[in-house]
Amino acid sequence: MKALKERILRDGKCFEGGILKVDNFINHQMDPILMKSMAVEFVRRFASTKINKVLTIEASGIAPAIMVGYLLELPVVFAKKKKPSTMENMLTTTVYSFTKDRSYDVCVSSDYLCPGDKVLFIDDFLANGNAAKGIIDLVRKAGAELVGMGFLIEKSFQHGGDYLRQQGVHVESLAIIESLDNCQIKIKE
Ligand code: 5GP
Repeated sequence: MKALKERILRDGKCFEGGILKVDNFINHQMDPILMKSMAVEFVRRFASTKINKVLTIEASGIAPAIMVGYLLELPVVFAKKKKPSTMENMLTTTVYSFTKDRSYDVCVSSDYLCPGDKVLFIDDFLANGNAAKGIIDLVRKAGAELVGMGFLIEKSFQHGGDYLRQQGVHVESLAIIESLDNCQIKIKE
């Protein structure tokens, strides 16, 4: 998606270990106009997919997910990173975070992720695919169906996208970063 690619080149910053910082418009300060355009693009790309629920993980996925849910007029559920003591019918999985170098539990209530749900997962980044694998596990535990995964930014050099596509998942990424070597942002045309 042209507008996102241009914005990444303008405002994105590289960090050691293959991390792209987009705090200026996605992860800290947020640009709602760009966020809306990205959601419109997801709606276009998943137009032929039957969806009844949008799923994401807190915190950075919530903004794009709610925009998509708003446009599709569908409920948006976010998986939580802290187990609330009050959550009923909890489904959990463990996710390894490479940016934080630790594992954490992610949970969602089966009141909101239900058998038969056709789930579109939306997140900010796809890197090694660990968060996505956790989501696949949660959706399976809920007896729901994963119908697609949409990412604002995919870092193809970390191969999570290869894994998901090999598993037959319909993956859509709005910008694909091929390399961050020598702190140079290389985006797929
Ligand atoms: P994965 O589980 O695919 O390895 O990583 C995905 C998660 O890690 C995303 O939800 C995102 O929060 C975080 N992440 C991975 N790579 C980056 C990055 O380069 N920049 C930022 N800001 N977050 C990242």
